[in-house]
This record gives sequence, structure tokens and C-alpha cells, in this order.
Amino acid sequence: MTDPHVELAELSVAAIREEGMRLKAAAVAEERLRRRLIRGVEEAQASAPRSLQVEAGPSQVGTVCQRRLAAALAGVPGLPGADRWLATIGTAVHAWLDDAFAGDPNFVGDWEVQINLGAFTMRGTLDLYCRESATVIDHKVVGARSMDRILRAGMPLVYKAQLALYALGLRQMGYETKAVALALWPRESGLNNGKGMVMVSQAVDAEFLMFTDDLVNRIRQTQAELLKYHDDPATSGFEWADTEKDCSFCPMQMRCSSYERY
Ligand code: SF4
Repeated sequence: MTDPHVELAELSVAAIREEGMRLKAAAVAEERLRRRLIRGVEEAQASAPRSLQVEAGPSQVGTVCQRRLAAALAGVPGLPGADRWLATIGTAVHAWLDDAFAGDPNFVGDWEVQINLGAFTMRGTLDLYCRESATVIDHKVVGARSMDRILRAGMPLVYKAQLALYALGLRQMGYETKAVALALWPRESGLNNGKGMVMVSQAVDAEFLMFTDDLVNRIRQTQAELLKYHDDPATSGFEWADTEKDCSFCPMQMRCSSYERY
């Protein structure tokens, strides 16, 4: 005759094993689903218009490294394998902001602007133009650290260059531009708590116009150098990268002998 205590204990062990296997199967199924969702997002990201963009736009030319500038002008695509989730959040918020201002006659949003740079024309989509204040606005959806950095150090070169080119394009089209501004939308807080939503503006004054002229000359010169060699910024005669670098997220990292990890 079997001991009822032993039988109960064996049953319990069996039940625990079964429950363990059930939980394990559920975890495997959940993990499979999680990966499938991520893959769906990554496939959509890979086929999004911005990912397929090969023509350099205003957002890519504000760099101190001339080789990186050449790479942008040559249409070198972004870093392979980079996680684009934060960029995806930014794109989604941009679309929402476009809708939010669409009915207001004081604003023109999502505006395709052409910038005549002499030898060629650059195209880009301006986020917002305020008619009343003649301000060129670029939306940035930023985390707290980036927000702090911009508030401490001022408008980053890459954003200043972007705004300068949009403002130039608008002036070429006959619009007034009195100021340019970054609209910093917080990713981790509300619009009115913490630092909230912050504007960082810059007047379109003599200094800013000089900055724009220098930028345009640099783009033209780099484009001319690029054409002189063979459309490949990695192997052509771009020596300037040795003196000034800006290697974070640079698409040339894998091919550039001057790459420096910070
Ligand atoms: S990796 Fe650095 S040095 Fe090389 S092109 Fe990019 S920014 Fe310039």
C-alpha cells in the first residue's frame, strides 16, 4: 500500500513541474511576439522616406568635419544597425505637431523649401514658419539631458546650420526672416512641468547672415572637391578630418581612418 503522504508529495512535484513548463512556454511565446513587434517596427523604419533619403538635406550639413560633410553631400546613408526608435518618436510627434498647427493661418507647416546653393539646389521640409514674427521654427523632441545641454551650450551647430539654410531658402522665395528658433518639446515631462517646452531663438542679424554665407561657401567648396575626386569621401583627398571631428553617429565611422570614439 502506498504511503498517502509520498503520493501527495509526488503529485505536488508533478504539478509544480507542469506549472513551470506552462510558464516557460508562455514566456517563450511572449518573447516570440515581442521580437515580432520589434521586427515590424524596424521594417517600417527601414522603408520610411527619411531612411531611403540619399540626397543631402539641411539637417545633415552642420558639421565641423569636412569629410563628414562630403559624406552627406555624396548621399552616404546613416549608420547601419543604429537603433532608430528615438528618431521614430520624433517623427511621430512631428506629424502630430503638423496637424496641430495646420488650421492656424499664422503658421505654415511641413513646408518643402528649396535652397539655391549656386551649383546645386538643396531640398528640405521646414517644420514651421510663423508669419507674424517671421520666425523659422524647427521642432526637436528631446530628452532631459539634450535639453540641458542645449540650454547650457546654446544652439548646436548642426541645428543652427539647418535653420540657416531654411531661412536662406525662404528669403530666396521672398519671405521675411527675422529670427530662427528651435522648439524643444520634452520627451520625458509635460509641457508645463519640469523645464517644460522651451524655445531657443536666434535673431537673423549680421552675425547670423555671415554664418549663413560661410556655411554656403563651405558646402559649395566641399561639393566641388567631391566632384573633383570620385564621389567617395572615404578615399578622396579630404584631409581636414584630422583637425576637426564630430564623430558621434557619423555614417563614416566604419570606413574613416580618422574616426575617434569619445
Ligand atoms: S568618423 Fe569622424 S573624422 Fe571620420 S568623417 Fe566622421 S566625423 Fe569625420
